Order: sequence, then structure tokens, then C-alpha cells
Amino acid sequence: MTKTHVMALDAGTGSVRAILFRHDGSVEHIAQEEFAQHYPAPGWVEHDAVDIWESQRRVAQRVLAESGVAAEAVAAIGITNQRETCVLWDRVTGEPVHNALVWQDGRTAGFCDELREAGHAERVRTATGLPIDTYFSGTKLKWLLDNVPGARARAEAGELLAGTIDSWLIWKLTDGAAHVTDYSNASRTMLFNIRRLEWDAEILELLDIPLAVLPAVRPSSEVYGVTGSTAGLGAAIPVASATGDQQGALFGQACFTAGSVKATYGTGGSVMMNTGTTLVESSAGLITTIAWGLDGRVEYALEGVFFGVGATIKWLRDELRVIDDVASTAEIAESVPDTGGVYLVPAFTGIASPYWDQYARATVFGITPGTGRAQLVRAALESMSYSYRDVIEAMNAESGTPLPELRVDGGAVANDFHLQFQADQLGVPVHRPRITESTARGAAFLAGLAVGFWGSQEELRDTIDIERTFEPHMDAATRAELYAGWTKAVERSLDWVA
Ligand code: ADP
Repeated sequence: MTKTHVMALDAGTGSVRAILFRHDGSVEHIAQEEFAQHYPAPGWVEHDAVDIWESQRRVAQRVLAESGVAAEAVAAIGITNQRETCVLWDRVTGEPVHNALVWQDGRTAGFCDELREAGHAERVRTATGLPIDTYFSGTKLKWLLDNVPGARARAEAGELLAGTIDSWLIWKLTDGAAHVTDYSNASRTMLFNIRRLEWDAEILELLDIPLAVLPAVRPSSEVYGVTGSTAGLGAAIPVASATGDQQGALFGQACFTAGSVKATYGTGGSVMMNTGTTLVESSAGLITTIAWGLDGRVEYALEGVFFGVGATIKWLRDELRVIDDVASTAEIAESVPDTGGVYLVPAFTGIASPYWDQYARATVFGITPGTGRAQLVRAALESMSYSYRDVIEAMNAESGTPLPELRVDGGAVANDFHLQFQADQLGVPVHRPRITESTARGAAFLAGLAVGFWGSQEELRDTIDIERTFEPHMDAATRAELYAGWTKAVERSLDWVA
């Protein structure tokens, strides 16, 4: 049968999606499901990996059924996923030995402190490109091996398999035939040497992690296997890409050349700059990471990450209950000319780039008797722009080339007020593509390239269409004054938890 579509499976933090892309890069159909978040203790965040798999399988089946596209017409499946989240499962039964520890989970903070105090930070950064932080998978996997009864012995005996969500889904999709991950996901584990392109023996020893549990690390665009009976899709479809969500968005925005930058505003967020085959080390709190492995080589990126982005807006809705829906925030923010000096620092689970303080906490500064809901909502939206500016300033300094423009994606780019404020704060145009599902599109592109559905990256670039550009309007003095207030607010929210 003629191949007409590529399916992307987008395993996000709050929901999973299956999206069918046509050959012209447009979306045929999307099926989505939310899944449960588990908070067993303050600062702990878990997912049931079986839940993720079941939801992912259901949406894959649904996207075919609802669109009427035959499984045989799907050229390939590509995976993109929440990064760092760590699963450990039994290779025979396929059962996870524990809930997955999610990237937001901070339970290993004490161990991360010990590693830093013992002087390992430089070695870890040089090898992996990452600061030592609870965010990455390494200390989560160690926690599982240390705390699930019998896990370490079983891991050493080769009975258990570990991986990020991509590995878990590929293993499930292929009926256990492939235990793999791709370079981009491996580079988020804090266990992978991004120079030598192998699991780092010294760090594995430091964290007491047996090599036998880890997946093989493969290019991001390659056929890893075909879907089996567990997936229940009705055809053996090649599983042909894996990419961490942010790297997927970089690819999906066609940021193929060194120097191109995209910003994603989802539950958390990220700014990523393609640095090509050059590994750029950061001394300003950015992460050096692998963008993808493609065409026989690995390309790198510089990244800033944010923990509280769209999550902050949801917090206004679900916990504070000052809004009914996240979409209403644009209008509420625009109902006032400014925040009246109010700043919200969204450090709910600490601050990531460029400060890296797991002990910072969210704060609101500058409240006066006149402060109300509109100012608070506006401050929450503005906090996204300020945080991203912090990182982009660092990127400008380290790359030596000031950012000329920004391409954006993620759920929160639906908010026009937010994108206008981002353009104003950066002083550069902000481009919103027509299809903001860049993450999934990146996974689809990588999978389609692997099976020849698309012939080249040039062909893919032509499928991208800008829906709206936000030009900067704010005068320089206001821009600087507002940002100075933010910088002061961030400094005061650092190092809060004893
Ligand atoms: P994920 O990282 O889970 O894949 P998405 O890219 O789907 O997230 O984005 C969802 C996030 O976007 C939510 O946290 C939500 O608060 C935020 N969001 C969605 N629409 C808006 C809006 N109009 N204004 C502000 N934030 C929004």
C-alpha cells in the first residue's frame, strides 16, 4: 500500500498524543489523553509507566480509527518524549518495578549535594554537559536501584532494564525486541559521555549503576524495530525515530543550522540553540546537550531549561483558583497597563537555567494594596518572558552572536499577550508557526527521513509556515527598568529552603 502518513507519538509530561502527519508536513489528525500525576511526598513526582504505555497505545489506535488512515499507509512511527523521567522494569514480565521518577522529582537533592560537595561537578559537566541536579535521570535510577527491594541484585543479574520514556515505549511497541534510546535522550541522563558517545564508566561507578540495565544508544533517525502484537495497530510499522521533546521541537522548527534558536513553552520549557558539530561548553549555567544523531554524525546544542512555565498558569487555575481557564489570562493581563511593580518568580520546584538552585521557591514580590488578580496574572505571564530572556542573554554572550529572531512553540504560545511581551523583552521578532506541534513534527520528520518518506532536510524546511510574527515595540528604558526588577526578584527567591 502507498505510504501517505507518518505517526508521531508525543509522550509529554501531562498527556500523550498521537499525531498523523501528511507528506506536506500538515497534520491529518490528533488523538490525546491526559494521564495521572502522583505526588507521594512533597517534591516527589511519579508516573505509572504502564499508564503512559496504555494511554499511548490507545491514542495511537484512536488516531488511526478516527482519521480513517489505514495502519498499512503509515510509513513509520516516531517517538518524542518528556526527557529525564526514568523507568526500571522487568525484562521478562515487562512490569515496571516502581513508578517512574519524573524529571520534576526532587527526592535525590541530598545525594546531588553530596556529589557536588565531594568535588564531582566539574568532571560530570565535562563528560555529560550537565550540572549535577535532581532533574536528570542518573540519580533517579540510583534511587530506584537503592530503594526497590532486590532491584540492584536483579539489575546486576541482567533481569531488569532501565530507560527514559522513549526506551520504555520502543520496548513495548516492538514486543520487547529493542532496548534502545537515542543520543538526545541519552544526553539527559547525566550518565552519557557526550564527547566519547558512550555510557561513562566512571560516572556509572560513582552512582553504582550496572551497565547491564542501560539501553543501547542509537541515532535519532533509524529503524529500531517494527510494531508487534502488544501495540495492536494492525500492521508492522517501523519504529524509526526517538528524540527528547525539546530536541524534537528544534528539529520540527527546522533549526538545522548552527546558530538557529527555538523556544518552547509547555508545562516546563526550554530555549535551544543548534551549535552544529561543535560542542560548546557553558560557564553561564546553560546545558550542553546532543541535538540528534543523524546521517552518521552527532550534532550538539546549547540549552536553557525552565521548570515552571505553563505549569505556573495552571497553578493560577488549579491551586490559587483566580482564573477559570488558562486561555483567559491574555485578556486579564491586558486589562491593566502593567503589573504595578509585581513580579512572580515561578521557582515552584527550584530554578533551573541559568541559576541552578534546587532550593529556590516561588515568590511574589512588590504586592501593594492595589494589587489584584489582573496584576498577579500578568506577572505570571511576564515571568515566562523574563526567565527566557535570562537564558537568551547568556546564550548571546556565550555564542558571541546575538539572537536575530526567535521561533516559538508549545501550549502557551496560544497566548498573544505573552508572545508580544516576549518580543518586547528580547527586542527581536518572535515567529509563531502555523503548526505549533513542533515536538511531534520533529519526531515525525526524523522517522520519515529514516524510511525515505522524506528525502532531505531541505524538503522539510519548505513545509514550515509562519502564522504570525510579533515585532518588539517597547522602548528601551521601560524594557531595561522592568528587567532590572525581575533580576532583583530572582536573586531574592534563591536559596530559600533550608
Ligand atoms: P507539555 O509540556 O505537557 O507537552 P503543552 O505544550 O501542551 O505542554 O502546553 C501546555 C501548557 O501550556 C499548560 O501548562 C498550560 O498552562 C499552558 N497554556 C496553554 N494555553 C495557554 C494560554 N492561552 N496562555 C497561557 N498558557 C497556556
